[in-house]
Amino acid sequence: MLTGLTLTEARAGLAARKFSARELAQAHLDAIGRLNTTLNAYITVLPEADVLASADAADARYAAGTAGIMDGLPIGVKDLFCTKGVRTTAASKMLADFVPSYESTVTANLLNAGAVFLGKTNLDEFAMGSANINSAFGPTTNPWKRTGDEATALVPGGSSGGSSAAVAAGMALAATGTDTGGSIRQPAAYCGIVGLKPTYGRCSRWGTIAFASSLDQAGPMTRSVADAGLMLEAMAGFDARDSTSSNRPVPEFHKAVGKSVKGLRVGIPAEYRAPGLPAEIVAMWEQGIAWLKAAGCEVVDVSLPHTRYGLTTYYIIAPAECSSNLARYDGVRFGLRKDAPSLDGVYEATRAAGFGQEVRNRILMGTYVLSAGYYDAYYLKAQKVRTLIKRDFENAFENVDVLLTPTAPSAAFAQGENMDDPVQMYLNDIFTVPASMAGVPALSVPVGLNDAGLPLGLQVIGRHFDEETVLSIGGALEAAAGFTHTPSIHAGAGA
Ligand code: GLN
Repeated sequence: MLTGLTLTEARAGLAARKFSARELAQAHLDAIGRLNTTLNAYITVLPEADVLASADAADARYAAGTAGIMDGLPIGVKDLFCTKGVRTTAASKMLADFVPSYESTVTANLLNAGAVFLGKTNLDEFAMGSANINSAFGPTTNPWKRTGDEATALVPGGSSGGSSAAVAAGMALAATGTDTGGSIRQPAAYCGIVGLKPTYGRCSRWGTIAFASSLDQAGPMTRSVADAGLMLEAMAGFDARDSTSSNRPVPEFHKAVGKSVKGLRVGIPAEYRAPGLPAEIVAMWEQGIAWLKAAGCEVVDVSLPHTRYGLTTYYIIAPAECSSNLARYDGVRFGLRKDAPSLDGVYEATRAAGFGQEVRNRILMGTYVLSAGYYDAYYLKAQKVRTLIKRDFENAFENVDVLLTPTAPSAAFAQGENMDDPVQMYLNDIFTVPASMAGVPALSVPVGLNDAGLPLGLQVIGRHFDEETVLSIGGALEAAAGFTHTPSIHAGAGA
């Protein structure tokens, strides 16, 4: 079943010439053809001829013995990465017809490693959301259903919900995501796949449409922890065009998976035991702790006292940066334009027509907290608290190698739930936001199904630039959990 492979398996199959990159690509195009109307995971599917041409080029490199680490592997690209000559929408009406004349660094790196792009995956508009319902191109549906309830459509998480749904349903072997406050990890957890937010600065932000620049980070969404390591190797690296990009060497991340975790110290942050946390989430967390103890880890209690301010400060800083970044969509330089008799009128008409409700809310919040009268009270204060949150992690990591927490406070919820209350929606990010605020790497690993048959994920958080230890621990959890479930709609089901 070509659509059910991991990247690692597919690469081995291609290298051994068990199947061709063309066959692999064709199987995925067929799967997209069958499933995309139902799931709406892709906003744009690349023309078949183009996909097959890149697959043929990959086959030629295998034949010549010059294949790169992602060669011939068909993947989805979140529609927030600029792709040269391919429409890039950020799921917004504002950019519905935007065709970039350049390639983002991350996607260029993947192409250089030989990856075959299938299309651009759906997301919340400008990556703002947790359920992929804020897309101007319609919501993505989670391929998973509650047991015995085929009728209720669930959200795939967000904002990288198109990517997580595509990988879970067999419409891509892997996909890129971006994570500002959880947008890789939470959708990965909701769809039963692996998602890695690297250390801030590990992947270049150049050519990725900006939401909140001090938080945005690209990362892989895959079916295994080793795959996340492999794909990150291809994506990461120094880029002179992003001043926050790190010049540290990129290790062979995938080799960290399978390494013994014996003697590693795993911290359990007391503050993540949020009041009202559902019993199934607590039970899964306890199970994870037991697995890591059995693998020889030492489990210790730690405290991250400022965690409780994570969400509130995130929802000041992220909107502040978004209001500044999105000021460029003015109807003058690029994107949508609505004419009006005055310049202000052009701005107003363009933004009213181009931005959806959530994006408007964020721009308004951000403009408010940055305004002269409130800057000190909100924005500056939030920046100070952010430093305290970061210090909490630094203090904890003097004592432990990683932290283990749930990824999200629930399994996937139904489309329509949580929609009338933005605060309820923002609570989804409670466990993912702190690592984003601190800039540390964090991984979500699927570890089991709840009583309703839906996947649950655990999060491993590590030190700055220590993705390797995070991947080693993630690999140990993956091995213990043996999560091999796929949703019944999977492209390869019955094949
Ligand atoms: N759900 C969070 C938000 O809406 C995180 C989004 C993200 O990481 N891009 O801001």
